[in-house]
Amino acid sequence: MLNQNAAPPMKADQGITEPVDHTTGDGDIYLDYAATTPVDPAVAREMNRYLTGEGLFGNPASVTHQFGKSASDAVAIARRDIAALVYSKPKEIIWTSGATEAINLGIKGGAFARRDRGRHIVTSPLEHRAVLDCAKWLESQGFEISYVEPNIDGEIDGPSLMRAMRSDTILVALMLVNNETGTITDIERLGRVVHEQGAVLHVDAVQGAARILDEGTAASADLLSISGHKMYGPKGIGALRVSEGLIGQLVPQMHGGGHESGLRSGTLPTHQIVGMGAAARLVRERRYDDALHDAALDRILREIVEQVEGISINGSQVRRVPGIMNLRCDGVEAESLMLALRGIAVSAGAACTSAETRPSHVLRALGLSREQAMSSVRFSFGRFTTRREIEGAAFRLAESVRALRRLAA
Ligand SMILES: *Cc1c(COP(=O)(O)O)cnc(C)c1O
Repeated sequence: MLNQNAAPPMKADQGITEPVDHTTGDGDIYLDYAATTPVDPAVAREMNRYLTGEGLFGNPASVTHQFGKSASDAVAIARRDIAALVYSKPKEIIWTSGATEAINLGIKGGAFARRDRGRHIVTSPLEHRAVLDCAKWLESQGFEISYVEPNIDGEIDGPSLMRAMRSDTILVALMLVNNETGTITDIERLGRVVHEQGAVLHVDAVQGAARILDEGTAASADLLSISGHKMYGPKGIGALRVSEGLIGQLVPQMHGGGHESGLRSGTLPTHQIVGMGAAARLVRERRYDDALHDAALDRILREIVEQVEGISINGSQVRRVPGIMNLRCDGVEAESLMLALRGIAVSAGAACTSAETRPSHVLRALGLSREQAMSSVRFSFGRFTTRREIEGAAFRLAESVRALRRLAA
């Protein structure tokens, strides 16, 4: 209806014409859900309705006409769905471009809002880079950062947190589920420590939102960040939950049209928002089934790899979400292992930064040696993973580890 005079098709040398290689080999297995989840087909269908001229493409801020109003209504429904997912009120939800931005707004915005009360911030060495880099930047702005030490299992306990806190601590940033090890933090208990000291708590709940987030945890977080693409929604959309009392105080990091209570300017991406809302609805509907499914697959994977000597699970054995399993394969380099596992998408315990491969900061913080960290691989899976895929990958891992050890011997 809108675009009857569409531009002629581009010639081969006229722009983005290189086709993206989307061939995955026959039987390739995706076990990297902690990096990103596939979008649920129901979510993609819903998003499609908000893009083209036939659909609800209007600007949700243009409420003087029906195009904008329809989009605005869709955003309001999605906001309610996200609020329900994180047990809060719709007006406490601020849309962002993803969890990285939500974390930036929560931590920097929270720090600057409370700087008159103190300049001390507490976080942990296990956090996602977004959190650690915000902390580092705040340090350059005159804040002081302390890192609470986890125990050997990657858990943070109340007494350690208490030791890290001071009378001038204004903000604490901790994650609900670690993206590398799946270790769960007892946010409810730690939240009490934070609040007793008069500080506010930011929780990176990205990996927990679709798996284990409960009401007590959500209520303990003054600020809580989530991401669409870690919960079967699209990439490029996230949300920060700001508790009611903080909304007027948080210092925006993006300036412009005053959207989102003035906290995050910029035209709302209706299709992304609708997608994240639909994903949240599905998570709530399927939470029980998804949890059973993940737990069953997790058990199968564990049982198979436990048969191999010298393979162990990094992080907590007891407080871990099913679906994220970080395996240390002694005597084997993750890089060789990844090659041997060709066709199985997993993630190494090392982050590649430009030229050098560095061991994961999370595994190092757990006390693993450089070598141990470099011999670890993360398997992460979820809603669309099948039993067959997990068995196939587990047996391949077992075989490959044995073969690589024979080679090294
Ligand atoms: C993926 C991830 C993020 C960043 O989320 P984006 O939406 O990709 O910016 C932050 N924290 C954790 C724990 C993550 O896994």
